[in-house]
Amino acid sequence: MSNAPVLILLGPPGAGKGTQARMLEEDFGLVQLSTGDMLRAAVAAGTEAGRRAKSVMEAGQLVSDEIVLAILKDRMAQPDMARGIILDGFPRTDGQAAALDALLAANGQKVTAAVSLEVDDEAMVGRVSGRYACGSCGEGYHDQFKQPAHAGTCDKCGGAAFKRRADDNAETVRERLKAYHAQTAPLIAYYEGKGVLARIDAMGPIAEVRQALSSIVGQVAA
Ligand code: ADP
Ligand code: AMP
Repeated sequence: MSNAPVLILLGPPGAGKGTQARMLEEDFGLVQLSTGDMLRAAVAAGTEAGRRAKSVMEAGQLVSDEIVLAILKDRMAQPDMARGIILDGFPRTDGQAAALDALLAANGQKVTAAVSLEVDDEAMVGRVSGRYACGSCGEGYHDQFKQPAHAGTCDKCGGAAFKRRADDNAETVRERLKAYHAQTAPLIAYYEGKGVLARIDAMGPIAEVRQALSSIVGQVAA
C-alpha cells in the first residue's frame, strides 16, 4: 500500500499539460509521466513498439491501448514512482482508464485527483503550432507565449539546440483535437463520477494556471 499521490492532467493537445507537469515536478517533487514522451523515445530508439506507433502518431491518431499500456507499466514499475506521479497525456481512452485503476488497485492505490485543463479548441491550434523544446533537457517553449530569457539559449540548461515535433502542424492538430473529443473527453465524466475531478480555466497565462493548479495539488500532495 502506498499513499503517494496519483494525479492526472486531462486536456486537449496544447492545453498546457506538459508545461504544468514539469512545474509540478519542481514545486512538489512529483514525477511526470508523459506517454507522448515515452512513445517519442520509443520511435527515436526504433523499438518494435516505436515502429508500430510512428505512423499513427504522425496521423494524429491514438496509439493502441496495448502498446501504450505496455510502455506505461514498465515505467510504473520503477522505484521513483514512490514519490508520487503526474500522468500527462494518459489515460486517453476508457480502456486505459480501467487499466490504470486495476494497476493502482494491485498496489493498494487509486487516482488521487484528475484535473481537467479547460481551453478553447481554436486557441489550441496556435499553441501547438508555436511549440518547440530544448533539444538537451526538453524544456518547453512557445514562439509567442514562452520565449527563453535570452534568445537561442535554454533557460534551464543553457542548451542552444531546439526541436519541433513532427506532429505539431495545424492539420494534425485538428485530427488530435477530434481524437480528444471522441475518445478522451468522456473521461472527465468518469473521474467526476469517482468524486476526484477538478476543473481549471487554462486559457490564462502559464503563471496563472500554475497558481490554480498548485492550490489543488497542494491539498493532496503537500
Ligand atoms: P500539452 O502538453 O497539453 O500538449 P504544452 O504544455 O506542451 O501542452 O503546451 C503547448 C504550447 O503552449 C507550448 O509551446 C507551451 O509553451 C504553450 N503554453 C502552455 N500553457 C500555456 C498558456 N497557459 N498560455 C499560453 N501558452 C501556453
Ligand atoms: P502528446 O505528447 O501527449 O501530445 O502525444 C502525442 C501523440 O502520441 C498522440 O497524438 C498519440 O498519437 C500518442 N499518444 C500519447 N499518449 C497516448 C495515449 N495515452 N494513448 C494513445 N496514444 C497516445
